[in-house]
Amino acid sequence: DVVVVGSVNLDQVIEVAALPVPGETVQGGPIIRLGGGKGANQAVAAARLGCSVALVGAVGTDADSAQLRAELVAESVDVSRLAAVEGPPGHAVVLVDRQAENVVVVSPGANARLDSDTVQAAGDLIAAASVVVAQLEVPLPAVLAAARLASATFVLNPAPAPAELPDELWPLVDVLVPNRTELARLCGVPDSGLRAPGEVARLAAGLPCERVVVTLGADGALVRDGARTELIAAPTVRAVDTTGAGDTFCGALAVALAEGRNLADAARFAVRAAALSVEQTGARTAMPTRARLAAAGEL
Ligand code: ADP
Repeated sequence: DVVVVGSVNLDQVIEVAALPVPGETVQGGPIIRLGGGKGANQAVAAARLGCSVALVGAVGTDADSAQLRAELVAESVDVSRLAAVEGPPGHAVVLVDRQAENVVVVSPGANARLDSDTVQAAGDLIAAASVVVAQLEVPLPAVLAAARLASATFVLNPAPAPAELPDELWPLVDVLVPNRTELARLCGVPDSGLRAPGEVARLAAGLPCERVVVTLGADGALVRDGARTELIAAPTVRAVDTTGAGDTFCGALAVALAEGRNLADAARFAVRAAALSVEQTGARTAMPTRARLAAAGEL
């Protein structure tokens, strides 16, 4: 089983011809409302792949929150430990232009109120899970509580990119899954210098975590497992929208680890699942089911 501890957002996306500059007003297309949040997205990704998944997090008490909860239920995500706190859920306002360039503002809402007590209350589930996954869109005390309660594998996706992680968190992380930007931030180097896989491998090897999977977009992923590093190429796909690719990757990696695969095999599975997820618009829309992955010959 997989337990995800993380955020739930309502994404409101508006397409614009060109992103506005400060002080400018532009006309956009219709508002598209989509369930999002890294925690919820990763839970959905794992559930689509046929894994039993629970989400520990917080939504609000309004109609939007009820809708977000209902969408997760429809995806077979266990929401019994999703707290309802007074007020709105997290919101993300996204503007996206015709080149698929975007700007995003996140208003954390209920996510900011996910405290360690709420996580503790799900301690039975978290301790029993074979894989626990967290990101950084909820407060650090909640992430720390989850890491302490996890008894098997604790996976941290350090997103959004933090400048550093607290010292007490590092020894609790079994597998760290950053993308290039997040790796650069954690290592205090500029993002632009991180194109070459050799440089990514060198930085990953310097992290105080033995098992690291760095996602590399169209270049696939780099796996560090102790002294071994391996570059896993991504299949060539027609990329339409890479939003949610990292979330699909993390959800799929968690499923594969829960099924007992080793880290490199799990990363191979996740690279293929995430590649399929970029072929359609929307973070969750194109997240593959187990059947689609099988049809693509990727089991
Ligand atoms: P994030 O969404 O966090 O920026 P990445 O861009 O690194 O994460 O993508 C995560 C994973 O999604 C990659 O490891 C890869 O498997 C897959 N992926 C992303 N973009 C592409 C692409 N253009 N072609 C094939 N696979 C992709």
